[in-house]
Amino acid sequence: MIRSIYGVTEEQLKQYFTDRNQKPFRSAQIFEWVYRHRIHHFREMTNIKKEVIEQLEKDFSLDRLTLVVHQQSKDETNKFLFRLQDGNLIETVLMKHDYGYSVCVTSQVGCNMGCAFCASGMRKKRRNLEPFEMVLQILTVSELIGVRISHVVVMGIGEPFDNYDNVLSFLQIINHPKGLEIGARHITVSTCGIVPKIYEYAEFGLQVNLAISLHAASDVLRSSLMKINRVYSLEDLKKAIRFYIQKTNRRITLEYILLKDVNDSLTSARELADWIEDMNVYVNLIPYNEVKEKPFSRSETETMRRFFDYLCKRRINVTMRREQGFDIDAACGQLRSKHIS
Ligand code: SAH
Repeated sequence: MIRSIYGVTEEQLKQYFTDRNQKPFRSAQIFEWVYRHRIHHFREMTNIKKEVIEQLEKDFSLDRLTLVVHQQSKDETNKFLFRLQDGNLIETVLMKHDYGYSVCVTSQVGCNMGCAFCASGMRKKRRNLEPFEMVLQILTVSELIGVRISHVVVMGIGEPFDNYDNVLSFLQIINHPKGLEIGARHITVSTCGIVPKIYEYAEFGLQVNLAISLHAASDVLRSSLMKINRVYSLEDLKKAIRFYIQKTNRRITLEYILLKDVNDSLTSARELADWIEDMNVYVNLIPYNEVKEKPFSRSETETMRRFFDYLCKRRINVTMRREQGFDIDAACGQLRSKHIS
C-alpha cells in the first residue's frame, strides 16, 4: 500500500534509502522539499535523480487532508473540520498569540476516556490517528492560512497517551530541523493521567512539555469527573509527576477547568494547593466552555478570580487561560459533534 510521506521519520527515510543501496543523506533533502518547499509532486524536486523520484512516487503519497468546514472567529481563532481518507472527521484549531501561531492537534477519532464534562468523550473512539494524520493537521492548516506554526498542543479530540507510539513518532517528525522545525519546548502534550505512560514519557529524548488535566484534587471528586482516576488515583499520579520532574528537570502544567459549584470553592482551591505541596508545577485555570448535553456550567468571573487569588497567595504559579473562539464551536469536539450522527 502507498504510504503518506508525512508519517515517515527522517530515520525511517534514511533506512528506506539504505535498504535500496542509495545514499542515506537523501532523506534530509527529501525532508526539506516536503516540509520547507511544501511540494505537491515529487517531480518538483530539482536536485533529485529521476529514478529516485519515480521510486518515491510509487511508494509515497503527498496528499493533504480534505477540508470540510472552516470557521473563523473575530479573534482570529480558526477551526477546521477535516475528512480523513476513510471518511472519518476530525477537528483542528489554529490560535493566534502574541508569540506566534499554535495548532491544537487531534490524536484520535473520538475518545474513550469518558470525562463527565467533555464533548469529545460523547463519541467513543473509532480509531487512533496515524502519525501522518497528525502531521498533516499542522501542515494543512499552515498552508490554508499561510502562516508559520511555531507552537503545537496535543489537546484536541482524543487521549494522546492512549495512542502513545503514534504520538511520539508525530513529535519526532514535527520537531525535525529539516522539517517543520517546531521546537520541542514549544510542543505540549496533554494527558488525562495515564500513569504508566507518564513514566515512559519522562524517558523520551525530546524536551517536549507535559500538561496534566487534573480538574480536582480529591479522589472522590476527581473520580466522579474523570473515569481514569478510578484506575490511577491522585496518589499514583503524584508519584508519576514527581518522577517526571526529577527525571527531566522540567516543570509540568496542571490544567484545572473551573466548573460552577463543582470544583470552584475555596475548599477545592485549598485541596489543590495542599496536593501540589512543593512540586514544581504551573496551574492553568480554564474557564469551562459549556456543552449543551452536559450538566455543567462555567464558574462566575468573581469565583474564578477568588480561586486564582487564593492560589497566588499560596505562592503557586497560576495563570488563567485566555478565552478564544467563543463565537465559534470552541469546546473540544463540538464542531465534529454537529457533523456526525
Ligand atoms: N485527553 C487529553 C487531551 C485532550 S483534552 C486530556 O485530557 O488532557 C484537552 C483539555 O481540554 C483537557 O484539560 C480537558 O479536560 C479540557 N476540556 C475538555 N472539555 C472542555 C470544555 N468543554 N471546556 C474547557 N476545557 C475542556
